Amino acid sequence: MTIPFDNSFVNLPRSFYMRQDPVPVAAPALVKFNHALAAEIGVLAADFPVEVLAGNTVPEGAAPLAAAYAGHQFGGFSPQLGDGRAVLLGEAVGPDGIRRDIQLKGAGRTFFSRGGDGRAAIGPVLREYLVSEAMHVLGVPTTRALAAVTTGEPVRRETPLPGAVLTRVAHSHLRVGSFQFHYARQDKAALEVLVEYARARHFPEAEGPLGLLDAVIKAQAKLVAKWMGLGFIHGVMNTDNSSISGETIDYGPCAFMDTYHPETVFSSIDRRGRYAYANQPKIALWNLSQLAQTLTPLVEGVAPLEASLARFDDTYATEFTRIFTAKLGLAAQDVDFIVATLKMMADEGVDFTLFFRRLAYGQGIRNLFENPAAADEWNANWQIRKSPTADMKAVNPVFVPRNHRVEAALNAAEHGDFAPFEKLHAVLANPFSEQPENAEYEAPPTEEERVLATFCGT
Ligand code: AMP
Ligand code: MG
Repeated sequence: MTIPFDNSFVNLPRSFYMRQDPVPVAAPALVKFNHALAAEIGVLAADFPVEVLAGNTVPEGAAPLAAAYAGHQFGGFSPQLGDGRAVLLGEAVGPDGIRRDIQLKGAGRTFFSRGGDGRAAIGPVLREYLVSEAMHVLGVPTTRALAAVTTGEPVRRETPLPGAVLTRVAHSHLRVGSFQFHYARQDKAALEVLVEYARARHFPEAEGPLGLLDAVIKAQAKLVAKWMGLGFIHGVMNTDNSSISGETIDYGPCAFMDTYHPETVFSSIDRRGRYAYANQPKIALWNLSQLAQTLTPLVEGVAPLEASLARFDDTYATEFTRIFTAKLGLAAQDVDFIVATLKMMADEGVDFTLFFRRLAYGQGIRNLFENPAAADEWNANWQIRKSPTADMKAVNPVFVPRNHRVEAALNAAEHGDFAPFEKLHAVLANPFSEQPENAEYEAPPTEEERVLATFCGT
């Protein structure tokens, strides 16, 4: 058998990518293979031996390439970023008719590597594996993890770390930055090709550049609302990490909040809080306005682009209200109550996940509050608003990848012990059910366990 590649990106004009084989590694070893995902996307595990997953063998039918893209990083524009450590092996169309990219991340230097080594360390690879798969079962659109392997080679970061390669599956790797690349080069013909490619691949019902923009805006607004409903902080919402398909992409210093506070930031490089929890919708809209900018050569006047951007807030607010109404099990939408609840949670230092989990299972919340009287007062207000039939258990997870648990699993893996990674992965596979034997994975970190900053680890 061979992987059923059906490649389309490689047929786009030359300026879209550089052909690039993955660079072989010394001693590949399998860490994890996602059999369920393989079945879902219509590939066989047997076609992905460790030599393929590590990039030592290029499988038949692959057309490996590194894609070109640009991007705003923390607000500053780089006209050329591109796949500096990732290689697209090719695409496969699944039994569901969906075309997906199969990409090796950490596969060696490419034309776009600049000063980088083209590699990834085990920690960030397993973080992406754990968190992206958790996001999927939590119901959030996301790139997926098909496999993780170690390379048998060290990567030099602050200290030498074991190298690894992630096999990533995505509806595509098109980003806002993909459009910015051609816009910066004033290549109108390339923009036309890219618009049509993205439209046909992701939003076939959309019409022209404006239809595409509208669809991306909707998908991104809904995506970020889902993040907010889980207390998820992406950490690096640069335009090159902002996907056209509306999937969460590029898990760097991402984390789920423990104690609720809107200004929470985890990334060690986000000193000014640009990508703080509460800023995420604003930043998504800012990124989308950059996408709109790239479409100006293709559209008559800016008014229709602005009108499209203006619809972001409505889509986002509708989705946010729907999500928090369900989380609180309210009988009717009540924005004021949702806002007041979140403010109360911040004032009282309430753990985000535990609060909703306890409400869903009819458990007490008093000991989550600094001031138990505030819990009683809030509870009285909630009781008169809640619906007796709301299925709160279906929308409030018992388990999320708590940052201290993720860090502990990655630290162990760096030292060759994959048991904590396996265990955490198994617990997170069923986030919406109680697992009494794994109750400790529900707990927020103790003072000593708390992870203050998450490093990019690129
Ligand atoms: P990221 O922050 O991972 O989204 O990456 C931002 C840009 O830096 C992209 O163009 C990456 O390809 C590039 N990059 C990140 N890490 C490396 C690395 N180790 N070697 C080469 N390029 C890298
Ligand atoms: Mg990126």
